[in-house]
Amino acid sequence: MKIQPNETYILNILKTLLDTPSPSGFTRGIMSLIQREAEALGIPFAQNEKGGAFLTLPGRDSSRRIALSAHVDTLGAMVRSITERGTLKITSVGGFMMHSIENEYCQIHTRSGKVYTGTILSTQPSVHVYTDARDFKREEKNMEVRIDELVENKDDVLKLGVSAGDFISFDSRAVITTSGYIKSRHLDDKASVAALFGLLESSRREGWTPRHDLVFLISNYEEVGHGAAWIPDGVNEMIAVDMGAMGDDLSCKETDVSICAKDSSGPYDYDMTGKLIELARDLEIPHAVDIYPHYGSDASAALRGGNNIRAALIGPGVHASHAMERTHKQAVINTTRLLAAYVAE
Ligand SMILES: [Zn+2]
Repeated sequence: MKIQPNETYILNILKTLLDTPSPSGFTRGIMSLIQREAEALGIPFAQNEKGGAFLTLPGRDSSRRIALSAHVDTLGAMVRSITERGTLKITSVGGFMMHSIENEYCQIHTRSGKVYTGTILSTQPSVHVYTDARDFKREEKNMEVRIDELVENKDDVLKLGVSAGDFISFDSRAVITTSGYIKSRHLDDKASVAALFGLLESSRREGWTPRHDLVFLISNYEEVGHGAAWIPDGVNEMIAVDMGAMGDDLSCKETDVSICAKDSSGPYDYDMTGKLIELARDLEIPHAVDIYPHYGSDASAALRGGNNIRAALIGPGVHASHAMERTHKQAVINTTRLLAAYVAE
């Protein structure tokens, strides 16, 4: 079925999601936002024990159930320790290059609910002082957070209420350009969450019903590998909606919907993948079929979790993933269109 996604709605919700911190393990705030958005559309909202969300959209025929997943958790960090100089050592949440967060503004979220700002730097952050500043290896032990508070030592930091185990979120710096690019951290996978909301909104506004029952899984531990390891009973098929990788010998572009045939968890379901390719062709959606060697999705987690399902993986092409990412609105909107064609036919 051909739908008309609401571009303004999708981009607005995407910008709100990008502006809301949500490193894996610290997603309560963004989940209330997901709940509000779901309830505004009249979509039932439920959560599992670890805080992932399930939104349901009944179909015309309940003999099959299709899950569409996207993860709202992102890369981030945690305070590992406080140095005698009053800076914070970090431990990563999720996998990224230290170069990609160097000099980034961040927020430190204390357990008592206070939020402090800071900057992530190497421990040799100035060429005026450190001979090795340029070549010094950017690795976790050589990175720290400079807090924007009047602190000179560890005690001063402890007095702020900051301690090991506090979450650190990176500023997303989300910008939507007039040329339609969306540049921001964490488009992986908030661009896909926005695409799923675009599908729900279209179903409400355009008044269509999916063929089979749909359950939307908004997962919250994907970046650490177990987001959708557990899925609700009765799911037959699952489409993980997650970013398409770009570069090297991959053909995906930021304007494309990526259809992943195989990633590090192995090949995706042959028939589902074939059908998605065929639908993309029929709808004249710019798309790319690619293989991702260093990639696993929520569908991989669900399969490894022992669920009896078939699975596929699609999503908007994202450049410089897990770094300063960029995609184009065309890819996000076309992801919604392709999903609609799959579920509503
Ligand atoms: Zn992802």
